[in-house]
Amino acid sequence: MKWVPSPNHSQPKGYKFNTIVNHIMEGTLVGTDSWFANPASQVSSHFGVGKNGEIHQYVDLKYPAWANGAVNKPNWPLLISGVNPNYYTVSIEHEGKNGDVMPEAQYQANLALHRWLIENLGIPVTRDNIIGHYRIDSVNKSNCPGSGFPWDRLFKDLEGGNDVLDVAVLLYTKEDYWAGTDVAARNDNCAMFIRPSDQSVPKDAMSAKKLIVVGGPTTGHTNEVLLSGNDKYDTAAAVKKYLG
Ligand SMILES: [Zn+2]
Repeated sequence: MKWVPSPNHSQPKGYKFNTIVNHIMEGTLVGTDSWFANPASQVSSHFGVGKNGEIHQYVDLKYPAWANGAVNKPNWPLLISGVNPNYYTVSIEHEGKNGDVMPEAQYQANLALHRWLIENLGIPVTRDNIIGHYRIDSVNKSNCPGSGFPWDRLFKDLEGGNDVLDVAVLLYTKEDYWAGTDVAARNDNCAMFIRPSDQSVPKDAMSAKKLIVVGGPTTGHTNEVLLSGNDKYDTAAAVKKYLG
């Protein structure tokens, strides 16, 4: 998770974020970085996910980002009449264009980010709380996030399905994200989970056949690989050793 601050956001409006809105950049992560950094663009999102799995954060979750533009023929029951949807939604932009198939690294990064937001903000896993921009503006944003967005797979993974994962990576904090990405990449871009603040272990992580823990204490998983040290430097050293 890389911090790329954008000046384009509002002060808190007193609404709780209850929905994740997914977008497509129609461009690159690098281009989006500079567009959101430019005050003249008047747009931003909270997060951007690159095709290589990089996650950039542009706006702190304390503030509404400027991602959704106008409401135009919406199809979204949680819309609050007369209130800007930016005030109660978290926004994620995705590198690429309408119709692109998400590379596995981007998919897994996006999935991990959704899991983290769901756990930290208490967002329900429903098709009304995790939506695409087209639900807010069905006229001009009908292709946002576009036909390539993997809705079915995302919901299946978020709901926990019946599939038992062969291997999963569990991060102690989001600061372990970069190390975790390298470990997940080494394991065929396997699923990655971030521990919620109560330090519980997500169900799908605990039921994986093998669990690689990056940072933090043991989970008690019976087939656990613990890549942890006394501090983040020891953890980084353990990860480096694991990656060889
Ligand atoms: Zn959009």
